[in-house]
Amino acid sequence: MNVADSERLESAMNQLGLKNVVEAKNADVIVLNSCVVRQSAEDRVVGNLTRLAPLKMDKPDRIFALMGCMVGPKTDELHKAFPHVDVFMRPQEFDPLIDLISERKNIDKEGCIGVLEAKPAVATYVPIIHGCDKFCTFCIIPYRRGREKSRSPGELVKEAEMLVKRGVKEITLLGQNVDSYGHDLEGDIDLGLLFKEMDAVEGLERIRFLTSHPNDMSKNIIDSIASLGKVCEHINLPVQAGSDSVLYNMRRGYNRDQYLDKIEQIRRIIPNVSLSTDVIVGFCGESDKDFNETLDIIESVRFDKVHAAVYSNRPGTIAARKFDNDVPDDVKKDRFRALENLQKQISTEINEGYMNSIQEVLVEEVGNYKAKGRSRNDKIVHFEGSEDLTGKVVQVKIEKTGPWSLQGKMVRKAELLLPVES
Ligand code: SF4
Repeated sequence: MNVADSERLESAMNQLGLKNVVEAKNADVIVLNSCVVRQSAEDRVVGNLTRLAPLKMDKPDRIFALMGCMVGPKTDELHKAFPHVDVFMRPQEFDPLIDLISERKNIDKEGCIGVLEAKPAVATYVPIIHGCDKFCTFCIIPYRRGREKSRSPGELVKEAEMLVKRGVKEITLLGQNVDSYGHDLEGDIDLGLLFKEMDAVEGLERIRFLTSHPNDMSKNIIDSIASLGKVCEHINLPVQAGSDSVLYNMRRGYNRDQYLDKIEQIRRIIPNVSLSTDVIVGFCGESDKDFNETLDIIESVRFDKVHAAVYSNRPGTIAARKFDNDVPDDVKKDRFRALENLQKQISTEINEGYMNSIQEVLVEEVGNYKAKGRSRNDKIVHFEGSEDLTGKVVQVKIEKTGPWSLQGKMVRKAELLLPVES
């Protein structure tokens, strides 16, 4: 979501006549787009703000802006800690910076700025719903990004058409809780309907979406993924924990069995789906038994990928007010490692199943005859290929597999008619 926000701000700044520079010391405007979902992310922002502070002293009219989730409703403390920052902007709140630049450059922004769009690339992100209404106890996002607000399907289709004209082949539809798209709009609008409208955009090859919530992933959404040719068969369905008591304390709104039922329903309707998940290790009160239940759910579902994070206390969340962050750091680390090792083994085994198969790959980049793209199941695939393949969908026969990616050889259409082992 932050990448998508940064690209939109970049689009506004470009429209005001600003150009990108490689080094911060050559910039007139420096923006840090912050994430505070984990302590390590917040520490990085603080480190960068401190490291870059001398640049303000060298050139006092240089504009510094801090954007994103680190900026809450009150900015007094941030002002005190980072006096060199001129503008503090909450997520997607671009106006304060745009106004300041327009004023300094004496430009009428109304006349300059049109649609703020994603950076054209082979694959890009389009936010479709902002904010979140869920209030999981560990999460700061609803407080920083606000309540759910969907963009209209018409506006989104127009943006997709414009992006396709600029070379985009794959769009990932984004939302903190993408499955709840449309509930706040008039009429019968949901993610399934948006998939259908996007699927009809000529020239668009693929549609992906992030991130889902098990309670909002309706049968209609699952059916649409199964039936629409451009929607890729990959779902990221965060489980966060495998124990009912931890899930209850996280206020996720489902228990272990309900999550497993959802997985079963998805696999029944989309048999070739690949699944990934998010897990928090060491949440408040997580016992060894609770953690073993997380390992157990990972083992029984056999996800293609797991994004694991060690729990860190986020001031302002319900968990920070209500619970003790009582799992010792070394225990969290040990559990994190155990989870990683288990998942590495599972990913290795799942990917071995792709050996000798033919995968449809959208080529995202080529350098030195090394091409890289993704399969419909979101597997990274490497193979040898020339630069003119960028943006094309090609068939690749998989000849080597590993836990994180696949390698293969491009096959021409004629070769596909020959029998292959699969
Ligand atoms: S659903 Fe996701 S974004 Fe919303 S509160 Fe829960 S973890 Fe945060």
